[in-house]
Amino acid sequence: MGPLRPGELIHLVDRKGRRYPLVLRRGGVFQFSGENLSHDDLIGQAEGIQVETSRGTRFNAFRPTLAEYVLKMPRGAQVIYPKDLGTILLWADVYPGATVVEAGIGSGALTMALLRSVGEKGHLTSYEIREDFARRAMANITAFIGSVSNHTLKLQDIYEGMDEREVDRLILDLPEPWKVVPHAVEALRPGGIFLCLLPTVPQVELVMRTLRSARVFGFFEVFETMLRTWVIDGPSVRPDHRMVAHTAFLTVARKVASRSTTYLLNDFSESAPQK
Ligand code: SAH
Repeated sequence: MGPLRPGELIHLVDRKGRRYPLVLRRGGVFQFSGENLSHDDLIGQAEGIQVETSRGTRFNAFRPTLAEYVLKMPRGAQVIYPKDLGTILLWADVYPGATVVEAGIGSGALTMALLRSVGEKGHLTSYEIREDFARRAMANITAFIGSVSNHTLKLQDIYEGMDEREVDRLILDLPEPWKVVPHAVEALRPGGIFLCLLPTVPQVELVMRTLRSARVFGFFEVFETMLRTWVIDGPSVRPDHRMVAHTAFLTVARKVASRSTTYLLNDFSESAPQK
């Protein structure tokens, strides 16, 4: 990666861990509560360098990780939190070379995680109905990973249908994923994985009922993840007082057959994973 360059996005991190994003420009000035910091003090320096503002406030400069970036990037829609992004990649088993479809693109947080995981030999198609969200998401993606050749954006309503076939993984972050289940039956390859995020239990019940009645899905899992961070500060070693307690329930299903059969329904549909 080398030293910090003009045009790069960095985060200035203060001693309390607060983050301030900026794009480095020659001659640029970062202004913070009436204090100034010249971008030229950062350009050409190694990542992590500590700098001081005109009045002595200290910051370290880092290239943000994806998790740090998604929490600071401009958002059109609510983003998927890092704890869920990481979980999705493993539970939907997104692998290098995979053909993945997602809907909707929102602010592009999941899109970036998926693009990194499918790699250059894989492909991601993102459905989105709102042009303004799509534009914002694409700007966020370009700012973080540059231009990509393994991504197709479709300004289309996925409830109306999907053109893709032999899809390895389908990931849905929209309000009525059950409307996509009939399309998923056609689009997913046998062994393909359906994953959706939903905030409420009635939605989970409805998508589960729809998945079961399609008769080609099995190995269902419904779960949520909770991330509780801790304070480790001298003798004070305890959980943080605050946490993000609820984001979404994840529902995962595997396409176990190419066509409906009662045999498969009996064999797989009621099976709950024993972990
Ligand atoms: N996963 C995204 C957030 C998605 S928010 C992220 O990580 O940033 C939900 C998105 O779904 C919104 O952008 C909304 O416009 C889009 N959406 C809702 N219904 C849709 C549909 N029928 N087809 C395509 N996109 C849809």
